[in-house]
Amino acid sequence: MTLSDRLCQEIEARRDDLIALTQDLIRIPTLNPPGENYREICDFLAQRLRGKGFAIELVRAFGTPGDSEKYPRWNVIARKEGAQPGDCVHFNSHIDVVDVGRGWTTDPFGGELKDGKIYGRGACDMKGGLAASIIAAEAFTDICPDFHGAVEISGTADEESGGFGGVAYLAEKGFFTPERVQHVIIPEPLNKDRICLGHRGVWWAEIETFGEIAHGSMPFLGDCAVRHMGAVMTEMEDSLFPALALKRTDMPVVPEGAKQSTLNINSIHGGQAENEADFTGLPSPCVPDSCRMVIDRRFLIEENIDDVQAEVMQVLKTVGDRRDQFRYDIRELHRVLPTMTEKDAPVVQVVAKAIAATMGKEADYVVSPGTYDQKHIDRIGKLKNCIAYGPGILDLAHKPDEYVGVDDMIDSAKVMGRSLIDLLVKPEASAA
Ligand SMILES: [Zn+2]
Repeated sequence: MTLSDRLCQEIEARRDDLIALTQDLIRIPTLNPPGENYREICDFLAQRLRGKGFAIELVRAFGTPGDSEKYPRWNVIARKEGAQPGDCVHFNSHIDVVDVGRGWTTDPFGGELKDGKIYGRGACDMKGGLAASIIAAEAFTDICPDFHGAVEISGTADEESGGFGGVAYLAEKGFFTPERVQHVIIPEPLNKDRICLGHRGVWWAEIETFGEIAHGSMPFLGDCAVRHMGAVMTEMEDSLFPALALKRTDMPVVPEGAKQSTLNINSIHGGQAENEADFTGLPSPCVPDSCRMVIDRRFLIEENIDDVQAEVMQVLKTVGDRRDQFRYDIRELHRVLPTMTEKDAPVVQVVAKAIAATMGKEADYVVSPGTYDQKHIDRIGKLKNCIAYGPGILDLAHKPDEYVGVDDMIDSAKVMGRSLIDLLVKPEASAA
């Protein structure tokens, strides 16, 4: 029996442990916002991995967005050294989950096991992936105690809100430098036979149009900011949206609709604020003097962020050329550049081989429509050898009755385990 077969058998034998671990993780509600129970889940992971011989570091991201005494931003990093020098393989999972929302038929924090699926908020995004990577790493270090290099597992905060109190903070502290870590796998739910190479870019901005307040019965005495914004939207419909639809990428983005540039209008607010639900009065007649729109532009690796901004500026200029008294302001809220790991990067090659060996089919390569923590590992950590690979169906993320399949977790744990053998066991050791 080959070493890989032995490891896969060992992972199968740990099925009950994998199920219980996933359920335990789901039962710690780590809702973000506000960032609940981060310390609790870090302590839980620390206790488990310390018991398996990992060295533990708990790192609080002091002063990052949302960090407070009530909601501290805790992260855990566990590292196990091999018997000989070599590369470090790091599995990074975020510990936070998004709001539950409506429509659940199971307890979102119950971790119910039904028909081979474990249900709960975060089951697929991404406590199932975290559990699979832990089982893979534990089985590997038990079977191959003489391995080269090191295995790391991190549980990090705030991915769902940008990762500033999580991977970005750790990257700034040197946890993801190419000297310390050589291969990173992020077990996000991208389906067990797909390797995610990276993501599109993001540009968020707020546009504000200005007017002049006046009595609503004499709007000609004022200047309506909402009408100015209406003109901006019309120009977007006429020129910007059609232009974006024509921009196609060579990145293997899924789903198909995200292979082009996209723009979402996140929100529009103009005039008086909406009343509280229990307010029974009428509004007062005023011409709105301000209207604000938040846009969410997702761009392609072939695009330049300066051009992305210039297109929106052109819309505003065109409107300004046509309308008297058109005054506006535009503020950038957030930006992330696109990132994509090369297909010949070592971690991509090794995981692709492991997928073929485990699933009996070639791996698919994909790029995510939205961003995830790879951006920080790339930009701050300067580490290019990074992918997302993990169990779970991407479309279930953030939905009611989110679940992860136990067989999918087992299969992806095998892929992770085989990858560890390929990267950390040298031929002379594996022959034994
Ligand atoms: Zn996620």
